[in-house]
Amino acid sequence: MSSKPDAVVVGAGPNGLAAALRLSAAGLQVQVVERADRAGGGMRTEEVTLPGFAHDICSAVHPMGVASPFFREFDWASRGVRMLHPEVAYAHPLDGGDAAVAYRSLDRTAAGLGADGAAYHRLFAQLVEHGDDVIDFFLSSAFRRLPTSSIPAITRFALNALPNVRWLAHKAFEGEHARALIGGAAAHGMLDLTRPLTAGLGLVLSMLAHHRGWPLPEGGTQRMADAMVTAIEQQGGTVELGHEVTDLREFDGVPAVLLDTTPEAFVSMAGDRLPGGYGRWVRRYHHGPGVFKIDWALSDPVPWTNPDVRRAGTVHIAGTLAETIAGEAAPAAGRLTDKPYVLAVQPTVVDPTRAPEGKHVFWAYVHVPHASTVDMTTEIEAQVERFAPGFRDTILARATKTAPQMQDWNPNNLGGDISNGEASLRQMLLRPVPRWNTYSTPLDNVFLASAATPPGPAVHGMCGDNAAQTALRKVFGVRDLPPLRPAPPT
Ligand SMILES: Cc1cc2nc3c(=O)[nH]c(=O)nc-3n(C[C@H](O)[C@H](O)[C@H](O)COP(=O)(O)OP(=O)(O)OC[C@H]3O[C@@H](n4cnc5c(N)ncnc54)[C@H](O)[C@@H]3O)c2cc1C
Repeated sequence: MSSKPDAVVVGAGPNGLAAALRLSAAGLQVQVVERADRAGGGMRTEEVTLPGFAHDICSAVHPMGVASPFFREFDWASRGVRMLHPEVAYAHPLDGGDAAVAYRSLDRTAAGLGADGAAYHRLFAQLVEHGDDVIDFFLSSAFRRLPTSSIPAITRFALNALPNVRWLAHKAFEGEHARALIGGAAAHGMLDLTRPLTAGLGLVLSMLAHHRGWPLPEGGTQRMADAMVTAIEQQGGTVELGHEVTDLREFDGVPAVLLDTTPEAFVSMAGDRLPGGYGRWVRRYHHGPGVFKIDWALSDPVPWTNPDVRRAGTVHIAGTLAETIAGEAAPAAGRLTDKPYVLAVQPTVVDPTRAPEGKHVFWAYVHVPHASTVDMTTEIEAQVERFAPGFRDTILARATKTAPQMQDWNPNNLGGDISNGEASLRQMLLRPVPRWNTYSTPLDNVFLASAATPPGPAVHGMCGDNAAQTALRKVFGVRDLPPLRPAPPT
């Protein structure tokens, strides 16, 4: 691009790419710059173990990626991305060969929960019926106008969402299966599960299993990133790789600059242009636990004792709700545990293209204290082996990343924190700093677009979309939302 673009987006994660697409939809000339040698950020897929084995380095399963308003509009199918739904959305193995199982069908899931089946159905039926409105509420501004027909469902959701998940699980259910199932979903949030709002994520993620599902993209999450890059380029935008931005002066004269970075990186790039007050707020912004990530190449599927777990896309490995709570309390308090909550994904259950000759890939991470350098391979494999004896015999190769290595790989994972700032109640309301519109900054032409802004972590594109809409309004005077351009006919 020879002349200056109308807008530059720094960072090609899902939020940066979503921002670029919305800006392009308004007819602007957009340039994305990315430090890595491939676009995607948390949507990268790489052969990190053996040739031909495609591993998702970060995100692998996409309940938000198919349900968010931005991606519903983007429409993966029209962009050539096939979303594959495992028969079991997620499973939670228990000792003795038992398991709690979430199917796409609410009825089938409730039927598997014994005495708690009716209570489970009651908790989710109305949420599932109004699923799109609930997710729009969860991922958008709480102040948006709600459709009247969905107000009872959303009010009920909000009341149940505010407490902690232990309270909700004990209030709603009598038995271990249903309690473990919702606790395992809530534990995605990387918080101590006795803190407020943890029930909310448990409810939303469980609801999505029965609404638009927990799918995996064929070929790996990179396909989603590549489809977004293609769409940007089709609209005349550019994506420049291997370009790390360290100083915003590089973009002097560009009308709008959107940052898919940490707020700390923004403060550093802005230097003395930024008033001190903003930097002081950013120093108070809290990054929570990190992750230790592991990818395996396997000769055979994981030999789960329970046959339903063998058909699950995602597996929450911890045991009972009490064990899940204990597993998450440790990293939140800065401690390690030898019985961690392990979040695992088995892509080859639905997607044989991920590994050659009928072999398998397997993906997992655990939460660890912020910036912990400890290798958790032994603890993770012991937890898998507990519910799948013989697992170790299937391992052909493994690749690991400690929390600091997650940060080296992508600076947005500060200290291994994959949420770009703890998703606590306070930090979800004021993310990353207290401002009426937290996408805007004290610099008139600079906007924050990453998961450090509402609605926070996960591949949903909404942080980038909201930041782009703020920039369109403030810099370009565009008040009406420009619809995303459809994919060109093939
Ligand atoms: C191990 C792991 C598992 C996960 N699993 C899931 C999952 O299954 N489902 C889900 O929905 N979410 C998951 N997530 C979370 C999800 O990946 C993130 O919330 C999401 O990617 C955040 O998007 P983002 O655009 O804000 O930032 P990122 O995806 O982190 O992208 C930021 C981009 O900006 C670039 N960048 C940063 N600084 C600069 C700079 N100075 N100059 C140039 N480029 C820069 C980075 O290289 C990166 O490419 C997972 C994350 C991790 C790490």
